[in-house]
Amino acid sequence: MQVTEVLAKNSGKTLVSFEVLPPLKGGSMQAIFDMLDPLMEFNPPFIDVTYHREEFIYKKQNSGYYEKIAIRKRPGTVGICAAIMHRYKVDAVPHLLCGGFSIDETENALIDLNFLNINNVLALRGDARPFEKKFVPDPNGNAYAIDLVKQINRMNQGIYLDTNIANGASTNFCIGVAGYPEKHFESPNGDMDLLYLKQKVDAGADYIVTQMFFDNKHYFDFVDKCRAIGIQVPIIPGLKPLTKRYQLQSIPRNFYVDIPKELADEVHAAKTAEAVRSIGIEWCTAQSKELKEKGAPCLHYYTMGDSKTIKQIVEAIY
Ligand code: FAD
Repeated sequence: MQVTEVLAKNSGKTLVSFEVLPPLKGGSMQAIFDMLDPLMEFNPPFIDVTYHREEFIYKKQNSGYYEKIAIRKRPGTVGICAAIMHRYKVDAVPHLLCGGFSIDETENALIDLNFLNINNVLALRGDARPFEKKFVPDPNGNAYAIDLVKQINRMNQGIYLDTNIANGASTNFCIGVAGYPEKHFESPNGDMDLLYLKQKVDAGADYIVTQMFFDNKHYFDFVDKCRAIGIQVPIIPGLKPLTKRYQLQSIPRNFYVDIPKELADEVHAAKTAEAVRSIGIEWCTAQSKELKEKGAPCLHYYTMGDSKTIKQIVEAIY
């Protein structure tokens, strides 16, 4: 079922969904099942699987020189989606990036997904690779998420890149896109970021999943601003508990979001790692409760391999 269909069917109810990361190369599918098994009692209508493009590493050669090698540390997104759907009979949402894909490769990836009966996709631009200062699209690739949305939308109308294909089979993708309550870090200001978000929706995006935030006010203001400029699609809040002291620095650095002073102060004052974890769980539980009370359509948890923590939070609110 499409994400928007399931949200419409459960209108007025707050659902729970999860995002998982493919294991590091060499890992097993069982690791994903072990992570998800304890969470399935919450009946997630869909599970997102992230996509990780190649990175460069420098490997020392016998000559003493270093060779630059491209590796993908976490491959397997599509296979994991298929395995999740097969095991749990629940929809999987693969993340699909502009970065690293030509438009032909994107089309072929979408054909694979369609043949696997995967009808949801989160369309993203992706980030610059480590060692690159800014995002560089493939020479024949999509430059922004909106371009990817448009490509998917054309396939939904049976239009393929090869113009000789007449009466091409229409795909039926429900298209999600990312939104940033605290603005995307490259955007000159929040208004401009919202304008581009609106363009993604006007181009065919069916729903929005937000970047994580630790102050619900950011989400509520974001939703109000979206509605004010005519974005009517569902806006799903993304949530991640802060459970380790070092995340006070790593989360803002990696995700460009603020940690509220009250939370940061509590974490600083905590005496043990377990106390930090409890503070983070309590904070995320309170966030989740308020979002549920105020009618968020779904709470989308970034599990980051820690199902125990997520289970504790969801158990507290349902
Ligand atoms: P876009 O919507 O293309 O926006 C990128 C920037 O360009 C923004 O500053 C925007 O304001 C600006 N912009 C947009 N359109 C235009 C235009 N036409 N002209 C000029 N400027 C424009 N990354 C991964 O690598 N793998 C994942 O699985 C993944 N999952 C994610 C899931 C969620 C819910 C979120 C919020 C992010 C995820 N990301 C993932 C990170 C994401 O790829 C980065 O945040 C990336 O920098 C931006 O992606 P986007 O789709 O929002 O880009």
